[in-house]
Amino acid sequence: MEKTLVIFKPSAIDRRLVGKIISRIEDKGFVIAGIKMMQLDEKILREHYAHLVDKPFFPSLVESMISTPVIVACLAGVEAVRVFREMTGVTNGRNAAPGTLRGDFCMSSQTNIVHASDSVENAEIELARFFAKGEIFDYLPSNVKYFYGDNEL
Ligand code: UDP
Ligand code: MG
Repeated sequence: MEKTLVIFKPSAIDRRLVGKIISRIEDKGFVIAGIKMMQLDEKILREHYAHLVDKPFFPSLVESMISTPVIVACLAGVEAVRVFREMTGVTNGRNAAPGTLRGDFCMSSQTNIVHASDSVENAEIELARFFAKGEIFDYLPSNVKYFYGDNEL
């Protein structure tokens, strides 16, 4: 199954939203293929947010992203990248649709609760950035058949 990266940002950790968000991820039908806590630093953020290093808000973004450890998880599912990106909502929480994670849980364009990979290609790059090979598991829980029709898996 396709895999995507989610980062529970310090804004989710600070506000103790991790349990609620994981519940929504599990309820939707994603398989958690890997999960761990880690402390980010400027070096990894310069890679992860390479498209933003020249923006005026970049130093503030780094500060917010290193302010607590984060939780990174690998979600597996059919079309996992697109489905989780849509579940996350647009960048600015004030514009994110109700029902999305950002739409329901935040008011910020910076402290917006979660990161979600934006393409299959970037998901592969990002998963390799945050996880060692043995930390992601290829398995199908027996209940996965209840989340898909016969021809979808
Ligand atoms: N960000 C910010 N100010 C902005 C735009 C982005 O602080 O005006 C932060 C925000 O935390 C966002 C991250 O930079 O999630 C990455 O930006 P991107 O445009 O890739 O948005 P995303 O893919 O997270 O929706
Ligand atoms: Mg992005």
